[in-house]
Amino acid sequence: MNEPERFNPTAERLTANYLSVMDRIQSAASRSARPTSAIQMVGVTKYVGANIARMLVEIGCSRLAESKPQMLWEKASALSDLPIDWHLIGHLQRNKAKRTIPLISTMHSLDSARVFEEIQKVTFNCDIPLKLLLEINVSGDPEKSGMLVSDAESLLQTWKETSVQCPALTIAGLMGMGSVARGKDRARGDFERLRNLRDMWQSRYEMPLDELSMGMSDDFEEAIEEGSTMVRIGSILFQ
Ligand SMILES: *Cc1c(COP(=O)(O)O)cnc(C)c1O
Repeated sequence: MNEPERFNPTAERLTANYLSVMDRIQSAASRSARPTSAIQMVGVTKYVGANIARMLVEIGCSRLAESKPQMLWEKASALSDLPIDWHLIGHLQRNKAKRTIPLISTMHSLDSARVFEEIQKVTFNCDIPLKLLLEINVSGDPEKSGMLVSDAESLLQTWKETSVQCPALTIAGLMGMGSVARGKDRARGDFERLRNLRDMWQSRYEMPLDELSMGMSDDFEEAIEEGSTMVRIGSILFQ
């Protein structure tokens, strides 16, 4: 379970943490000769209540993510006066698609063909623009979430063959989590594998797949060095 009130930073603390993360993103980008603008910082607010999320937006971080649809609904409603770009980074139950899709610009966690079909229904009907990233179980650890490589390949193949597509809906890239608990080198290897998969699928399926959502609090610098375009940062913002 998420514990929304696990962290309760002051505005000063939150500002300092945010600036420090942005600084580290910039350094990692320049180490790998990439412009900082190529990396989007996504603030993961699942650990905090709407009041702290509001402070984060006021500091300048207006791209926010939740891992549970219900928590996203609650925060999006409490913060509806703010111009927030909401992302979903956790599993979407099919019966929650209709209510969730209109609230978000990007879903990092597309993890099955069945969820994809449901999303297609919802977006075809409402013509809502949405970027989808395929979540890949890149470490192959059965405890981890994400699609097997073979399932992702058949989804991409199907998408390509049935391409009377709704222009609003795009498969924009891949998401993966590194095994950072087993060390930063392991995480780096996972990120490299995800990037290689992306490069291979980009040419095989002739799809842009520009986005690589990889890197969290403990491994975002390694992820950026391996080509991440979106880092999902939670705990180090709020500690
Ligand atoms: C919670 C979560 C994050 C943020 O994790 P931190 O290590 O706290 O930065 C990123 N991605 C996903 C999918 C998450 O569930």
